[in-house]
Amino acid sequence: ADDALGLDSQGSNGDGSVSAELSPGGHTWDRNKWNMSTIRGASGQSSWSEVTIPLSKIEFKRNKLIGKGRFGSVVRGYHFGDVAVKFLNMDHVADEDRLEHFKAEVASFKNTRHDNIVLCLGYCLDHSSLGIVMGLCKGRTLHSMLHGSNAERVEMASAIRYATEICQGVSYLHQKKIIHRDLRTKNIFIESKQRAVITDLGLFSMQRLRYPERNHSMVVPKHWLAYLAPELIREIAGDFRELSFSQQSDVFAFGTIWYELITSSIPFDSNHPDFIIYSVGKGVTAPLHNVATVREVKDILMRCWSFNASDRPSFLACNTLLNNLPKKRLDRSPSYPMVRSYESIF
Ligand code: ADP
Ligand code: MG
Repeated sequence: ADDALGLDSQGSNGDGSVSAELSPGGHTWDRNKWNMSTIRGASGQSSWSEVTIPLSKIEFKRNKLIGKGRFGSVVRGYHFGDVAVKFLNMDHVADEDRLEHFKAEVASFKNTRHDNIVLCLGYCLDHSSLGIVMGLCKGRTLHSMLHGSNAERVEMASAIRYATEICQGVSYLHQKKIIHRDLRTKNIFIESKQRAVITDLGLFSMQRLRYPERNHSMVVPKHWLAYLAPELIREIAGDFRELSFSQQSDVFAFGTIWYELITSSIPFDSNHPDFIIYSVGKGVTAPLHNVATVREVKDILMRCWSFNASDRPSFLACNTLLNNLPKKRLDRSPSYPMVRSYESIF
């Protein structure tokens, strides 16, 4: 099944993502049927109405577009304070069953209250898109800080602090039985260089991964595969309908974030998706011998990247591991451990 995917790097979508051909069997729905009664549904009406914000109650500013992601765009608005509204393009929304499931999740997201989790205010609708209303994050994403055009130097002490806050945020979600499913540095903001704020929790379950109208091809955004645990990578290589994300797959993704924090690079950055899927599915992880840091730092990485999901630590355990890092020895080691690229060696 390794070559069933037939990834087509020529089919680049122009945004760094590539399309992958997958065998048919996907399930879709008629988006023309999409309307208010679909979203209200027969069941769960009361909890749904509690989290619905009429679009007219949100003031949208000029130049409101913040950015575009894989599944829609994020715009800036005002609703008793600054908000960001993420409009999921319904072309990309999964089938009706999944929408029902999502409705049930909505209420639980709104009940999350944690310093390191973005505030979820509710959801709004217009006829062609579903908007998720959340607090507006200030500052830069961790991805832009580490890999952006004017990337900043992240000291080891800050790296540990951000990682600790991410652990605390996600262990709170896990304790509430919410799986993030899309933990990556693009979904983490660092506000005033102080506080890590995690966004986009659970939204992944809404998103359609395959496109029947495009030969059941699958969009593989740049870098996304680096966060996927081997058990998910193996599902991608097969005939999947949904990916079986778990608390342990969130831990694997956290491992990749930790790697980025300590190396300022992304695992398998220059590799073709075919290669990543083949190797990661078989248990290969990014090599660590070039990473100049203490054993304990690498140990966290290796544990989070364990091939068997059950061998990965919980986020609470990760938090303890981070707490127990030998701060004194870290101070003496290079403050900015890096994977040196060949250009800088020769
Ligand atoms: P991605 O996560 O791949 O960057 P998104 O659709 O989630 O794609 O986000 C699109 C853009 O909107 C990105 O630039 C992202 O940083 C920004 N964004 C998303 N959520 C928020 C938020 N709550 N506050 C401010 N900006 C946000
Ligand atoms: Mg995002």
